[in-house]
Amino acid sequence: MGLLDRFKKIKEGLSRTRTNFVDKISKIITGKTKIDDELIDEIEEALLSADVGFTATEKIVGDIRARVKAEGYEDSGVLRVLLKEEIAKYLMEANGAEQAGPAPPHVVMIVGVNGVGKTTTVGKLAFNYSNDGKKVLIAAADTFRAAANEQLKIWADRAGVDIVQQQPGTDPGAVAYDAVSAAKSRGTDVVLIDTAGRLHTKTNLMEELKKIRRVVQKVIPEAPHEVFLVLDAVTGQNGLVQARQFLEAAGVTGIVLTKLDGTAKGGIVVAISQELSLPVKYIGVGEGIDDLQPFDRKTFVDALFSDQDSHD
Ligand code: GDP
Ligand code: MG
Repeated sequence: MGLLDRFKKIKEGLSRTRTNFVDKISKIITGKTKIDDELIDEIEEALLSADVGFTATEKIVGDIRARVKAEGYEDSGVLRVLLKEEIAKYLMEANGAEQAGPAPPHVVMIVGVNGVGKTTTVGKLAFNYSNDGKKVLIAAADTFRAAANEQLKIWADRAGVDIVQQQPGTDPGAVAYDAVSAAKSRGTDVVLIDTAGRLHTKTNLMEELKKIRRVVQKVIPEAPHEVFLVLDAVTGQNGLVQARQFLEAAGVTGIVLTKLDGTAKGGIVVAISQELSLPVKYIGVGEGIDDLQPFDRKTFVDALFSDQDSHD
């Protein structure tokens, strides 16, 4: 997918947030030509209602007030530019080089609660890696529902990649172990491990995830190279509470934020960067296989603030 197509996807995915947030900002700004405290208070409210979160909103608004004073701005129109710059500043850049081990496979574990989009994300990631010319293997380590296997198989077929599955009820660690061992012997580049979001046994989910990690490390000591925590943008601030549970237990290295297309509160991206101190690595902007986009803060704010009706 070309850069322009990516931009278009992200822009479309953010259309609800643009309507809610950017239109609101434009109205606030056009309603008053001179910058004053009241105007900045209204912008603060708009940020909070877009789920930017209290911490990040305070920082952004504080910086804007300071810049208005120091740089002597008077016309309200400049606020749109300041806001765009300040939002970008508080988004964590996700573009750091991925920490691949000395030899393939690169092992990526996908974790998160039920229904956030883990399995869908595994399918989309498989498609992305495969398009990059990588040989991919999916491990079906959500062994607690028979339907989970079928769903993942459909995604593997769509992405055109191999999958390792076992009977429902098999130990998820065993599936992960088999997959990583197979990948190592076949010279596979990337292993994507799908996991359960809830267990039907008495086993604690966090303990199960730790166990998958330990088992994988028996094959490749530095694996998993990445652990992506999948969060559903629609659940907003509640997702942040969930996230904290996973961070330590699962050794999360980055966030995949799904369903941005389904919310008007896309400001949650900023809240995540600020409150979890973890980069958002990918954003999900639809249910299609090509709807998982690498997150990059410049593209994100450009798409967010681009004009509603321009077709760029
Ligand atoms: P899991 O339980 O975490 O594995 O979640 P699933 O992958 O089964 O996804 C749950 C639902 O979320 C499915 O209906 C997906 O189509 C939907 N979904 C996942 N990602 C996105 C996204 O980025 N946008 C939209 N609109 N729906 C998504
Ligand atoms: Mg699933």
